[in-house]
Amino acid sequence: MSHRLLLLPGDGIGPEVIAKVERLIAWFNGKGMRFEIERELVGGTAYDAHGTPVTEAAMKKALDADAVLFGAVGGPKWASAPYDKRPEAALLRLRKDLGLFANLRPALCFDALKDSSALKPEIVSGLDILIVRELTGGVYFGEPRGITTLPDGTRRAVDTQVYTTGEIHRIARVAFELARKRRNKVASAEKHNVMTSGLLWKEEVTKLHAAEFKDVELTHILADNCAMQLVRNPKQFDVIVTDNLFGDVLSDEAAMLTGSIGMLPSASLGNREAKTGKQRALYEPIHGSAPDIAGKGVANPLAAILSFAMCLRYSFAMTREADLVERAVGQILDNGYRTRDIMQAGKREVGSHEMGSAVIAALDKITA
Ligand code: NAD
Repeated sequence: MSHRLLLLPGDGIGPEVIAKVERLIAWFNGKGMRFEIERELVGGTAYDAHGTPVTEAAMKKALDADAVLFGAVGGPKWASAPYDKRPEAALLRLRKDLGLFANLRPALCFDALKDSSALKPEIVSGLDILIVRELTGGVYFGEPRGITTLPDGTRRAVDTQVYTTGEIHRIARVAFELARKRRNKVASAEKHNVMTSGLLWKEEVTKLHAAEFKDVELTHILADNCAMQLVRNPKQFDVIVTDNLFGDVLSDEAAMLTGSIGMLPSASLGNREAKTGKQRALYEPIHGSAPDIAGKGVANPLAAILSFAMCLRYSFAMTREADLVERAVGQILDNGYRTRDIMQAGKREVGSHEMGSAVIAALDKITA
């Protein structure tokens, strides 16, 4: 069976890092896998070519694909594009139309980089946690919202935090299912002590756990305590599930435990169709288009490469292959290869291309 991948490289360093992923895909195809690739413009480059950041043809391919591999979009060139045509609008449209409600952000500390963390090496060494953030509900979308002027001339702003049982169950289900493939532990973070949406969240996660996931260890944690525990003792966690707002903050905090933005992958998943078992998914590095280094050949491709490892793991259940890619990345870091963003004294500074080649060489060696 072949797997259909849509590559959306985007702007700035997006095409540079996705090119390294393509080499990896070609490597796997050389080993007998069957990945079929299609490519489309997205973001500013699509706006320049077609007057829109994502064409209908690209959207159709994204909906048809088994997984989408996204680079990055945006840059100063498109700063004055109309609001609905700005490069970032493409990503929002993709998230919406593909129904990507679950955002997965791993925080994985490679041993070779444990000294680059702002935390003590013993706190982050061996760290491997996963934050599952609800992405399409909560306070960023709740109604009513807006700013009004009061009779006395002062102003009042309202945002609404709103969650339904269905929204809570589907994100919690993703977290429990992922935990079963990891260390079987879920911590659910909310603020039930001061928010009714937090109370509902806690009750519904508890109900779903009792009905379907009793084998998974569940704990509840207040989101503010979770923020503290992430810097005090992050290794106590396996999977953390939380809402859109808390997830936005906690996932950035967790990501930074492990160092550079050039190392951090992510995945966004949709519902699994009951009939076909297909689950829409988009994988992307968490970094942006980095216009300051675009075209210089120095971008770190590892976040994009690790995003592809997530794709192997979550879209295709290719655990062995995903482990292989992560092992290859670990090995080249152990061997001292560093792009500029993660450079340390005494290590070997390489460009994007050489880093990509080093991953392939490590894969060859591991599988020889
Ligand atoms: P950025 O992530 O592009 O860059 C922040 C800093 O990190 C820069 O100094 C950059 O050089 C460095 N950096 C980022 N990725 C790197 C890599 N792989 N290797 C080495 N260094 C790397 O964030 P920004 O500068 O705030 O945004 C630039 C543009 O990207 C903006 O237009 C923004 O809207 C867009 N953006 C897009 C996405 C996305 O497509 N998902 C995400 C964030 C920002």
